[in-house]
Amino acid sequence: MKLICPVCGTHLTAGNKEAVCESGHHFDYAKSGYLNLLVSNKKVHGDDAAMVKARTAFLESGPYSFLRDRLRELSEGTQVLCDLGCGEGYYTSAIEAEEKYGFDLSKDALKHAAKADHKTHWTVASIFHLPLEDESCDTVLTCFAPHAREEIQRILKPGGKFIFVTPGERHLFEMKEVLYEHPYENRPQDLDTDLTLIHSEKIRNEFVCSQDQLKNLFVMTPYVWRTKAEDRKRLEEVKEMNLTAEFIIRVYQKENR
Ligand SMILES: [Zn+2]
Repeated sequence: MKLICPVCGTHLTAGNKEAVCESGHHFDYAKSGYLNLLVSNKKVHGDDAAMVKARTAFLESGPYSFLRDRLRELSEGTQVLCDLGCGEGYYTSAIEAEEKYGFDLSKDALKHAAKADHKTHWTVASIFHLPLEDESCDTVLTCFAPHAREEIQRILKPGGKFIFVTPGERHLFEMKEVLYEHPYENRPQDLDTDLTLIHSEKIRNEFVCSQDQLKNLFVMTPYVWRTKAEDRKRLEEVKEMNLTAEFIIRVYQKENR
C-alpha cells in the first residue's frame, strides 16, 4: 500500500479494522471500508448524501459512460492509479490497474464507493495534501475537480501520466439556454503545470434527458448554487430535453529521467 501517515509521513500498513503507521498512529476503517486520513482542525465537508444520491442515479443511467470508456482506454497498462476528487468512484472503478486509490473529502461519496468496490483504497483526504508516497503512481486522474499541481508532480512516477478532464465549451449548453437569458460557453483554461502535454481531445455525446434525469443532473452542476427559483422552475417544466455532454480530456506526462 502506498498510503502514508498524515501525521508523521511514515508508511501505513493496512490491518483488518485499522491502518497503522511505523510510529504507531492508527486510523480506523469505516464500516463501509473507506479510510479517513483527514487531519485538520478546519471544518471541511464534501458533497452531502443527497447530492451523492442524485449524482449516482444520473451516472448509472448512462449518459456519461462514453467518458468512462474513454478513460479506461487512456489508462491502459496502469499499475498504480490515483483518482483525485473521485466522488462515488464512477470513473475510478471502471479503470483497470493493479492498485487503485480514490481520494475525496465527501464521506458520503466514499461510503457509496467503498460498498460497491472493495479493491480500491478509498480515502478521505484533501487532494492538496495527499497521504501518498512520492513517485508512487503511473496514472493520476482528475475529473471535474481542481488541479492539485504540486501534489500531482510529487506523486507521479517519472514518465507517469496525468489525465485531466474538464467540461467542453458546449457542455450542457441546452440546459443553460433554459436557465439563463444570456447563457455563456465554458472557456477551457490552460493548465499551469511542469508536466508536458502529450495528448488532447474533445469528446461529445448527445442524449435525451428525462425530467427525472434532469433533476439529478442539475444538482451535479455548479448552476444549482446560482440559479434563481423562477429560472429553476422553467427547467422543472421541461418533460425531456436533448442535451450535449462535451468533455475535454488532456493527458500530461512527467519527465522520464
Ligand atoms: Zn504516523
